[in-house]
Amino acid sequence: MGIIVQKYGGTSVGTPERMRVVADRIVKAADRGDRVVVVVSAMGDFTDDLIELAAQIDPEPPEREMDMLLATGEQVSIALLAMAIHATGYRAISFTGPQVGIMTDHGHTKAKILEVRADRVRAALEDGQIVIVAGFQGMTPDGQITTLGRGGSDTTAVAIAAGVGADVCEIYTDVDGVYTADPRVVPDARKIDEISYEAMLELAANGAGVLNLRAVEFARNHGVVIHCRSSFTDIPGTIVREAYDSMEQAIISGVTCDSSEAKVTIRDVPDHPGVAAAVFTRMAESNVNVDMIIQNISEAGTTDISFTVPETDLVRARRAADAVVQELGAREWVVDESIAKISLIGAGMKTHPGVAAQMFRALSDAGVNIDLISTSTIRVTCVVSGDDAATAVRALHASFGLSEDEITIESIPGCGEGE
Ligand code: ADP
Ligand code: ASP
Ligand code: MG
Repeated sequence: MGIIVQKYGGTSVGTPERMRVVADRIVKAADRGDRVVVVVSAMGDFTDDLIELAAQIDPEPPEREMDMLLATGEQVSIALLAMAIHATGYRAISFTGPQVGIMTDHGHTKAKILEVRADRVRAALEDGQIVIVAGFQGMTPDGQITTLGRGGSDTTAVAIAAGVGADVCEIYTDVDGVYTADPRVVPDARKIDEISYEAMLELAANGAGVLNLRAVEFARNHGVVIHCRSSFTDIPGTIVREAYDSMEQAIISGVTCDSSEAKVTIRDVPDHPGVAAAVFTRMAESNVNVDMIIQNISEAGTTDISFTVPETDLVRARRAADAVVQELGAREWVVDESIAKISLIGAGMKTHPGVAAQMFRALSDAGVNIDLISTSTIRVTCVVSGDDAATAVRALHASFGLSEDEITIESIPGCGEGE
């Protein structure tokens, strides 16, 4: 008899009717003889609604109180799901994150799990109960309630799976697996049957929100196999696991879009040594996470410096930009919130020159202007206007033939494949 962890996202438990469907799925797993731990998210848009509610009270609420508020969403779900299972005649017990020993650091609103003290879950399983755990929340060693960052219920599920030694961590969502691009944006995107932790990490880090980045990191570090699948159908989804010798590894794994950043430009900064240091020291002191940076060519002794930051850091970034403009005698700062980071991801880039060139050409053929560019060995990212995001993702998906099994990478004259 094995242990399985099943995680259900917000849409999967969005209504009482959906709760009942999920309860049926859970009891079927229990009927097959598995011991089942279920991790559940807040219903539907509950977390967004709570954030909106807080913003009406205070645009910059204290993070401790934010966690106290957000943790309530998952608490509603666990109780209702336990009731739905009881109604089927099975025994279930719900627990909050703190109750099942999800211990975190003090990073309120984006806390990291330090340890899972899974004894209480194990005891309830041994007692024959179906165990329902609130995702997304934990507790610091001194008893403060924390949350794990948006999408953090996936991380709770993987951490519990590692803690109880589960055979698999099933992440049930509203799509039937991980696709070569968001299927809502690219209708002919292809489902990936099996993907390595490494490739999945890169997809998740760059906007493939179907699996939370920290969850994939945790799974890789603890060897937890993830099965990402639909709560609306029974068809198999995507297995995320350690790469093995004969595992099919795509040259290009997929195209992602991340709209969660904004671009800040400091205009007419005097161009002399130490200026970049001054700008980014201010940002760091204000706890702003800077991602991509570009400095324009200097004209008449001044230059523009642009960089991207998470939208969630914008209030602090604006304040820091005010200080920078004053300190350096720059002209002004401007923020563009409507940007999107489009990334092409694939381990095959290391050995296929010309991928970046083909990406830039496909974007230009689609009439999409590129604002900033950054690369790693297995990723090329372009920042484009938010209005162009869907066009850009579709153009890249088509140009690299990602709907087909065979990936097309045009050869660049003088750059044969694998050279
Ligand atoms: P849940 O509430 O179940 O956690 P999420 O909204 O967090 O669900 O994640 C599922 C969504 O992720 C899908 O509805 C889909 O639009 C989006 N998505 C983005 N990129 C991808 C991708 N590469 N493959 C599949 N889904 C993706
Ligand atoms: N409810 C939280 C969120 O909306 C956590 C999750 O769903 O994973 O981000
Ligand atoms: Mg999610």
